[in-house]
Amino acid sequence: MPLVPLRPLMEAAEQYNYAQGAFNVNAVAQAKAVIEMHETFRSPAILQGADLANAFMGGRVDFANGTLEDKKKGARNIAAAVKKYGEHSPIPVVLHLDHGKDFDSCVAAIEGGYTSVMIDGSSLPLEQNIELTREVVKYAHARGVSVEGELGVLGGQEDHVFAATSTYTNPLDAVEFIQKTGVDALAISYGTQHGANKGKNAKLRREIPIAIKECINRLGIFCALVSHGSSTVPQYIVKEINDLGGDIQNAYGIDVNELMAAIPCGIRKINVDTDIRLAVTRNMKELFAQKPELQKSPSIGGVYTLLEEKKSAFDPRVFFPPIMDTVLTGNVPDDDVALLMSRVEAGVKEAVGSLIVGFGSYGRAPLVEQKSLEDMIAFYKK
Ligand SMILES: [Zn+2]
Repeated sequence: MPLVPLRPLMEAAEQYNYAQGAFNVNAVAQAKAVIEMHETFRSPAILQGADLANAFMGGRVDFANGTLEDKKKGARNIAAAVKKYGEHSPIPVVLHLDHGKDFDSCVAAIEGGYTSVMIDGSSLPLEQNIELTREVVKYAHARGVSVEGELGVLGGQEDHVFAATSTYTNPLDAVEFIQKTGVDALAISYGTQHGANKGKNAKLRREIPIAIKECINRLGIFCALVSHGSSTVPQYIVKEINDLGGDIQNAYGIDVNELMAAIPCGIRKINVDTDIRLAVTRNMKELFAQKPELQKSPSIGGVYTLLEEKKSAFDPRVFFPPIMDTVLTGNVPDDDVALLMSRVEAGVKEAVGSLIVGFGSYGRAPLVEQKSLEDMIAFYKK
């Protein structure tokens, strides 16, 4: 089936009380691996391209400086990859924009073929966030595309429970935001944090999603709550990277049991990026250690050089520039590249597979109501 919007997956997760992992991809091989792993587990799938991933997939190695044109091109490249493996898949597959930074980024993603977008107005004052998000909802829903908003500031450790000045999501604001914008999903701040340094023993404030959920249920409004910055940062992978000569310090994630406990509180989508990056980095380092002759390979030796130069990095985009054609198109020019990409795919599958099980989305694909973008256009009109 064609790629589907996010909303029906969130409705199924709500009805049957589980969560969907949402996994970021930055290369064609990663999209393939994420979809294959979900197929193995008969789970619905959410693949995410971040705003800057679109710039990277538009061919910008210096993706932080990507222009809107780069992002448009990259959105088309990511959508083409996800469609290639997702459109003939037996499971429903969503392509979601992660952290769309403005209206134009969301439009670029939708034009490129994304079926769901996030507009991140969380740095704006509440009223302006509502205004921006409404604008995106109006544009997206007219095309059947789902929308996720964000409220609250992620990052920073907060110990003071019930602090009046907390930067965690204020449930009262969240209810107002959901009512005024009509978003399908809302990312909240309740103790998670982006990146690999979330602090030891991070605890989640589960009363925040519980409060929001209780209120919107009473109002008869549907909105799925989303947990960003939720990588688990498996300690065995960090250790293996460091044993292979890496230098990754103070890397701690959210314990998977904390995440699992948040699911019955209304968390239906859990974003994971760092775990994939770590597993892919470990696998690439391991390959060059196991087969030292590859360190001088004309096609992938450059990847080894970057791995050696940047020992504290674990974002595969830092190591991929020597093989950009393969990253962007999936074309495999020789056996060395094929071997490297098979290790990249295996890393993705390791990270994704364990969380499909942890979040409880395995076996759920048949429970998702089949709704096309056209069906959703009619739904939103009502
Ligand atoms: Zn995020």
